[in-house]
Amino acid sequence: MGQRRRRGRYGRRVRTLAATAVLAALALPAGCTAGRAEGPPARGAFRVHYEPAAAPDRAEADRLRAGRGAEDAADRLNAFLVLPYDVTVVARSCAGEGSGYDPATHRIELCYDDAVDDRALFERAGDRPADEAVGAVWTETLFHEAGHAVADALDLPAEDRAEEDAADRFAALMLLRQGPPGERALRLAAREYELAAATGSGPHADDQDEHAPDAARAAAHLCHLYGAAPTRHPDLAPRFPHCPSTWTTTRTSWLADLTPLLRA
Ligand SMILES: [Zn+2]
Repeated sequence: MGQRRRRGRYGRRVRTLAATAVLAALALPAGCTAGRAEGPPARGAFRVHYEPAAAPDRAEADRLRAGRGAEDAADRLNAFLVLPYDVTVVARSCAGEGSGYDPATHRIELCYDDAVDDRALFERAGDRPADEAVGAVWTETLFHEAGHAVADALDLPAEDRAEEDAADRFAALMLLRQGPPGERALRLAAREYELAAATGSGPHADDQDEHAPDAARAAAHLCHLYGAAPTRHPDLAPRFPHCPSTWTTTRTSWLADLTPLLRA
């Protein structure tokens, strides 16, 4: 199993580490999935940790930390799922390396510098203030990487592009479970992909990228959004008329895969 990384939201698979972690104990101990309706479990939880930011990222890092978006996302994951081990979500300055999930260490990295870039992208497009949009992409990125962590825990067979698409669908699932606030975040995340596609700052400079093109990722998010809540997003109906049935299939498929990890 290669190291799964998602670099700069347009990622390139990095195969510098052979994952040595053999996930032998996929079955959860009895009691982990039931009877714990309050607070995160003692183990098998997503836990957020902030590293100090490099000087150019400091203001953005302070905003993200104050917004507690990562903690909120982790709380939602922990209310929904129990993993066989803890997954550490580390917010840090990555110097362009990009967010990612490392199956060897069960560690998600979220990058302050990506958020700095996202803010610039939104502001250049006239989306000011961009705080909500930057926070939405931050959360969606965490859920995408959590999708990789979950796929790893379940030992799902998907690789490369299929796994990236599944991680995007997991992010959509986690946001759409929240109702209108999550729908708004998903829409903002889709807009970021659309802006990246329009400005050419997406993945095409990198021919090793395993993600779908940005325009396709935007369209997939919007399809899920319309599919899950067509009456709240009627403007999307002409582009995505078949998406309600597609979303039902997508949601059902992910929930079936997640069954061994569901908390209650
Ligand atoms: Zn990914």
